[in-house]
Amino acid sequence: MANQTLQPSFLAAALLAWYPRHQRDLPWRHTRDPYAIWLSEVILQQTRVAQGLPYYETFLAAYPTVQALAAAPEAEVLRYWQGLGYYSRARNMHRTAQQVVAENGGKFPGTYAELLKLRGIGPYTAAAIASFAFDEAVAVLDGNVYRVLARIFGLHSDIAAPSSRKEFQAVADQHIPASVPADFNQAIMEFGAIQCTPAKPDCLFCPLQASCWAFQHGQVALLPVKSKAKKARTRYFHYFVLRHNDQVYLRERREKDIWQGLYDFALAETDTPELPADELVRHLDALGAQFDTSQAAEPSAAYRHVLSHQKLEARFHDLPLTQPLSATVLRDLGLRAYSATQVEALPKPKLIANYVEQNL
Ligand code: SF4
Repeated sequence: MANQTLQPSFLAAALLAWYPRHQRDLPWRHTRDPYAIWLSEVILQQTRVAQGLPYYETFLAAYPTVQALAAAPEAEVLRYWQGLGYYSRARNMHRTAQQVVAENGGKFPGTYAELLKLRGIGPYTAAAIASFAFDEAVAVLDGNVYRVLARIFGLHSDIAAPSSRKEFQAVADQHIPASVPADFNQAIMEFGAIQCTPAKPDCLFCPLQASCWAFQHGQVALLPVKSKAKKARTRYFHYFVLRHNDQVYLRERREKDIWQGLYDFALAETDTPELPADELVRHLDALGAQFDTSQAAEPSAAYRHVLSHQKLEARFHDLPLTQPLSATVLRDLGLRAYSATQVEALPKPKLIANYVEQNL
């Protein structure tokens, strides 16, 4: 049930008074450049500020303009992104940069509606760019904003359901002041990040306490309503680290799956932690290779990695070869031989980068 006692301007007034006293000094808050704002927003999706900050600075130094990003090879962009996860964000960002350059001469569209037409730019990012760079009064909705609105206005719709967006957007748009939309958006997100946090919000010293539906009704811990995500499935990866002299074979992941555009080793996947002996033999036969059995070792211990909907458990089989792989096998498996220096420069999933760092 919405809180009818709150005047539309009250939320904005409280947040705008709170913000200057509590805001963190972050570099993207000092720019009106839509490119830099966009970069920061893409990096900060699903990423904590402390983790995202160095990536923002590195990216901006490497690619100071949208033209520079558009002109970069995808593998290089992914290498800079390495460790942030959600690699489709980096690929989309790169393609969007190319779209902005090709279709708009490198100029970002100046309205929310036009920004939404760009590839990979959804309502949240479009609202952030439109308000921060162009002062358009369109409210941002991220996890922090959903939480703040749900609690203050007593909104019980499931925030995981896409159908709830309209309701929350309407409430937020009703309160965003046309005179300072950027400050309001920054303020409400920061308020959610610092004051009205998921666990243990600071209700005691909250300027909105008297107007907060959840506080007044003892339901702070129950809001927002968010249905549970599906249980993550576990995938078991068995990697074949094929080496010949000082070269090692990797491939670019091209299939529609996790880590598209990143590099890993030849792979067998199973539903169980162990790779049955007959399957191992079948995979090795397919390589048509001679192995140096004197150097063969047991598979590595499990390397684990958690993604948003998947848990990965990988074991690595270190396989020294007596001869290079044939051209046919390389073509069929998409493998190529790389030196250690080249491997270092390739964009790799964190799990592979960890293995490489410890073993190659
Ligand atoms: S009173 Fe508590 S729940 Fe309500 S807005 Fe303030 S911090 Fe959030």
